[in-house]
Amino acid sequence: MNHPARTPQQHVPGPLTFTLLRLLADGEFHSGERLAGQLGISRASVNNALRETDGYGLILHRVRGRGYRLPNPPQWLDAGRISEHLGAAQKHFRIEILDSAPSSNTLLLQRAALGAPSGSVLAVEWQSGGRGRMGRVWCSGLGNALTFSVLWRFERGLAALSGLSLAAGVALVRALRALGVEGIHLKWPNDLLGKRGKLAGILVEAQGDMLGPSAVVIGIGLNLSLPGPMLRQIGQPAASLADMTDAVPDRNRLLAVILRELHAVLNEFSRHGFAALRAEWESCHGARGWRVQLLLPGGGKVAGIARGVTADGSLELETAQGMREFHAGEISLRSGGEQECC
Ligand code: ATP
Repeated sequence: MNHPARTPQQHVPGPLTFTLLRLLADGEFHSGERLAGQLGISRASVNNALRETDGYGLILHRVRGRGYRLPNPPQWLDAGRISEHLGAAQKHFRIEILDSAPSSNTLLLQRAALGAPSGSVLAVEWQSGGRGRMGRVWCSGLGNALTFSVLWRFERGLAALSGLSLAAGVALVRALRALGVEGIHLKWPNDLLGKRGKLAGILVEAQGDMLGPSAVVIGIGLNLSLPGPMLRQIGQPAASLADMTDAVPDRNRLLAVILRELHAVLNEFSRHGFAALRAEWESCHGARGWRVQLLLPGGGKVAGIARGVTADGSLELETAQGMREFHAGEISLRSGGEQECC
């Protein structure tokens, strides 16, 4: 997705910072002098490049006489390792990892327009200015999240793609369950929730004609851990895999498992549309039976009880005027009022 990650006090890490952080990936102390010697730069340059590390969500120990150490070094993404975890499914994907980019969705949409193939994946270690829905911001730090986009091409036109963000949610749930993570719910239309709050967000952006063919970029931001300062920036309750499982999966394996499930779900969606995934989505519907308020893009509000979703992914809301349907992508759902049942 568009992981809109950056906050005003954070700086975008440059290539030298990434090189140094990778040299510190063993979690051991490295002296500034040695690092400087390895890279043919001054100790001051090393110091400068590592100055903002805290702002990237990393802890860096600086100890006089010993040097620098990352006690919890990030697990760096590696296209080769992701492909190994994908096994036979790797033929469906073309994976690229970038250290930083403003927004993986924006970049992949540009590449889609230039003819990038279906299955192109762009994963970004650090997003400096992605987008959530309606211009909202997504926060993530180095190594503590997955932020990536996948391009998928459909023979069908845009008109037949409603429900796609819900379908992507089903793929994420399948992947996390396969890795032993329980207690996940889906929030219409595009979020995954853990017990403490929002665990992942999905942003679907499309190109093409109403009648086809079409190209869709699916952006996903998933929290692996949430350092305190980041949690405070988010502005709503948030969850991470670290508070849901004792064994947070390796990032490369996690991405591979998500891609595999996305491949399966998108094929199902291509053949049968969201209707084939509807029951599965509803089985994870976190707000089913809740009194909710829908915030309409124009600023209006509709209150009602969230029921199921339709075959095209619209939310069924029981209102004082009767059952009404709201289309994905047009409306935000926020809990409001009392829970009727769960
Ligand atoms: P909402 O969840 O408020 O209905 P949305 O689903 O329409 O929003 P998204 O684009 O999915 O919006 O996500 C953006 C929102 O998610 C931000 O406004 C912020 O509150 C929240 N957020 C940002 N970063 C994170 C994160 N790492 N984890 C959880 N939530 C986040």
